[in-house]
Amino acid sequence: MKLLVAMMALSACAFSTEYVVKLKNKHIKSFSSLRALGEVRELDVSVGDFVVIKSEQKLDLLDHPAIEYIEENIRYNISTHDELFKKQWALSNNGWNSWGGLLPGKKEIDIEAEEAWTITKGDRNVKIAVIDTGVDYNHKDLVKNIMVNEAEKNGVEGVDDDGNGYIDDIYGYDFANDDADPMDDHGHGTHCAGVIGASHDTFGIAGVMNNVQILPIKFLGPQGGTLEGAIKSIDYAIKRGVNVMSNSWGGGGFSQALKDVIIEANKAGIIFIAAAGNERNNNDERASYPATYDVENIISVGALDGRGKKASFSNYGKETVHLFAPGVNILSTVPGDKHKKMSGTSMATPYVSGIVGLMLSVEPGMTPVEIKRRALDSTTNTDKLEPYSQAGYISAHKAVR
Ligand code: CA
Repeated sequence: MKLLVAMMALSACAFSTEYVVKLKNKHIKSFSSLRALGEVRELDVSVGDFVVIKSEQKLDLLDHPAIEYIEENIRYNISTHDELFKKQWALSNNGWNSWGGLLPGKKEIDIEAEEAWTITKGDRNVKIAVIDTGVDYNHKDLVKNIMVNEAEKNGVEGVDDDGNGYIDDIYGYDFANDDADPMDDHGHGTHCAGVIGASHDTFGIAGVMNNVQILPIKFLGPQGGTLEGAIKSIDYAIKRGVNVMSNSWGGGGFSQALKDVIIEANKAGIIFIAAAGNERNNNDERASYPATYDVENIISVGALDGRGKKASFSNYGKETVHLFAPGVNILSTVPGDKHKKMSGTSMATPYVSGIVGLMLSVEPGMTPVEIKRRALDSTTNTDKLEPYSQAGYISAHKAVR
């Protein structure tokens, strides 16, 4: 009897894997030969002809006449420290809380935001997609700067009023649950959004930009997100006409499909800011994706502490990490009108997204290559950082001057 139970459990859990499949052309989607490989579903994006196949066979080395390439539907994780890891810092560094980026007397570096704000506090024409766990678009500190799809807001419920392929996408989209509500059920995405654009008023915190439009896109849940969700998110952000994509997530290894959609974003003139990752890893030796893809619109961001040192968890790379921004003990927004400190290259990334947003406020129409050049030129390198990135830490003031 016991054996039977075990055998039944085994057959119910038969090994199956999902694959993202790039087809040679879209007419192939109906070919029954693909269904022989497993369960096929559409991956409806305009950046290429893709399907997802769930198969009990191993398909990654499959040679099929209809398929351009095939790769596992890998998972991505958010690039923040979890709560327990953060608590352990006190064990190894007693000084950690003594500066925290919040005690001015002890702080040695900052992004010079107040100096930048004498020149610009942003512009509502700049649109930044936060591709993450969603955003609390009702947060009192964020609501003014959330991008609203007016055609959908003033349109008919259940109808794709703006014809972009998504019904009722008023505030963005949720590719984790496949619905039009990108509300944050985690906190991470709302935190990143606050770093970029929490409004400058009497409530809460100030973002790098006081004026901006933030587009919430959710594909990450508590267990991370898939390659399929990442592709859909980037495709959607291109369709919504953003200028910047802020990406505080990574993992999962190389994906040609993900690289291809980032290239599509580059063709659309969109800069792609990406977290370098939190594994204390040299990305020159062991790549961390998407930050390390060799695409000209990517800026790979490491995390810095308040003393101007590389955060110990931060990935680095003399060639492959472009620059650093603050990423330790960062106070920002979390759902329910609250605020909280978090650490990670996740937090450093939206600082750079916001600084790029300020640049575009002063000089709209810069290409991704121009933006990246200016970002690299707006840095200060130090002995502490010189071994870890191309260019040191970024200054908002230098970027808009
Ligand atoms: Ca729509």
